[in-house]
Amino acid sequence: MDDCLFCKIARGEIPARKVYEDNDVLAFHDINPARPVHLLVIPKRHITSLATVSESDAPVLGKMLVIADRLAREQGSPDGFRVIINTGRIGHQEVQHLHVHIVGGPDPVGPMLKRI
Ligand code: 5GP
Ligand code: ZN
Repeated sequence: MDDCLFCKIARGEIPARKVYEDNDVLAFHDINPARPVHLLVIPKRHITSLATVSESDAPVLGKMLVIADRLAREQGSPDGFRVIINTGRIGHQEVQHLHVHIVGGPDPVGPMLKRI
């Protein structure tokens, strides 16, 4: 995916403040944080969204969640965090490369969503 922003970050073509990397996943600070801790975890291999995954993606998806607590603690959210995976048009996904937001900070992040 030549023109995909997060593929470019994964390839090192666009800089990012990385906090974790292995063969399969990369985690970095969101450029426009919504909370004191706001990380993005991506698969290095292009996956468009949670709406396009298949059974073969399960290991990398699992890894992205397994590392979340450690990353949140290391970055300053010691007592929990929130994971958000915006998906598709209804989920207001802006970057079309699957990513897990980890948001937190010293203070609680607040209610999940405004109720209808
Ligand atoms: P989405 O709305 O797709 O779930 O979230 C995309 C996220 O990517 C946003 O929170 C936005 O701030 C972040 N983002 C967009 N462009 C860049 C970038 O070039 N670098 C980094 N680190 N984050 C980005
Ligand atoms: Zn991509």
